[in-house]
Amino acid sequence: VSCDNESLASLKEKQWIYEDALNKYDRLKARGLSLDMSRGKPSPTQLGFSQPMLSWTSANDFISIDGVDCRNYGGPSLGLSEARQIFSWILGTSTANIAVAGNSSLALMHDIIAFLMLKGSPNGNKPWVKSGQISFICPVPGYDRHFSILESFGITMLPVPIIENGPDMDTVEQLVFEDPSVKAMWCMPKYSNPTGITYSAETIHRLGSMKTAALDFHLFWDNAYAVHHLSDKSVFIPDILDVSATAGYENRAFVFASTSKITLSGSGLAALATSDQNLSWWQSHSDLRSIGPDKLNQLRHARFLKVKSSLDRLMESHRSVLAPKFNAVVSTFHRLLGSLNEVEWTEPLGGYFINLKVPTGCATRTVQLAADAGIVLTAAGASFPYRKDYKDCNIRIAPSFPTLSQINDAAEGIAVCVRLAIAESELE
Ligand code: PMP
Repeated sequence: VSCDNESLASLKEKQWIYEDALNKYDRLKARGLSLDMSRGKPSPTQLGFSQPMLSWTSANDFISIDGVDCRNYGGPSLGLSEARQIFSWILGTSTANIAVAGNSSLALMHDIIAFLMLKGSPNGNKPWVKSGQISFICPVPGYDRHFSILESFGITMLPVPIIENGPDMDTVEQLVFEDPSVKAMWCMPKYSNPTGITYSAETIHRLGSMKTAALDFHLFWDNAYAVHHLSDKSVFIPDILDVSATAGYENRAFVFASTSKITLSGSGLAALATSDQNLSWWQSHSDLRSIGPDKLNQLRHARFLKVKSSLDRLMESHRSVLAPKFNAVVSTFHRLLGSLNEVEWTEPLGGYFINLKVPTGCATRTVQLAADAGIVLTAAGASFPYRKDYKDCNIRIAPSFPTLSQINDAAEGIAVCVRLAIAESELE
């Protein structure tokens, strides 16, 4: 009897919690919010920081430092020296190993995978399409667009969990050591999308020096957030090109970066940094698909980011807008979700995302409830290969685009949705 009484009391309590959560949710819905936190886009204020760049005119300024007329075809196919210099500041890599090409680092990643599939690696003896079913290691949660590229090429994805210091390296080392069909791995070494995690120096050394069964194994080192700090601590990571060369694997890493979240998203510059041999390999293929990069955009960027301190100042301006938004989300979550079991979130020192973890089975429902209340979040599961988060527990939060007051509303709203999703699942 006492057991029955206890379960009745617990059921009543759950019912009460549910009704309270539902009341709060109804009030949230009644506010008629309309907020989009689905993608990590810079806000209009941030774009404004680069507005002066668009006032630059090439009327009397179109000759590069190397004497190239930037209005015409021709010139260095690895990009203008001054544009390569900008990426040398961003990546801490020597300009000689950097190519600046196009406006999208994702396009460079896509092309390199296509070249590897169709032509093969500088370290390989056949194209990957002729190597049977191949696979990539995919640390999870990760970047949805990385996974979409692999899905479109029919490459198998092997999810490996991200833990405190980066991907679970014991699992990674075992996979690459045992299986020659494991050809590559996605890495976002700094302020990862969506966890904000930075790989430790030890993790980076293990990645650069691990033994792989495939001789044509490559790291896709997407350093998209290299200078995107949110705190006073500018996190430093070792240069993977140095680390892998020292370990005898000079051609292991393709490093990517862009100014998409430095100057103007979509109208910035993208870069590839890699070994001499990889760079010539890339050039031999990419020279066929374009007569050359948009040198005027490169020159425009070089005039805007003249010296490293101009880059530092610009990133400081971004931080002044972004950090309060991240702090607002984190402090609201502490206040409204701090007491809940199995609810946690990352508190990144840089980058564009926070990863919110909710109890198993509650992510899709939370995102749905938020959408119905006018808060659009990234689809649950998006940060996983094939969009399958088997525990349905991760939600990516992108606080950059809405205004600070919208962020406060959105973070409170998300907390209300999390509480209702949990209360519903407890009643089931
Ligand atoms: N990599 C990561 C990790 C990103 O988050 C993004 C953009 N959100 C990109 C690449 C895309 O960069 P780009 O604009 O240079 O293609």
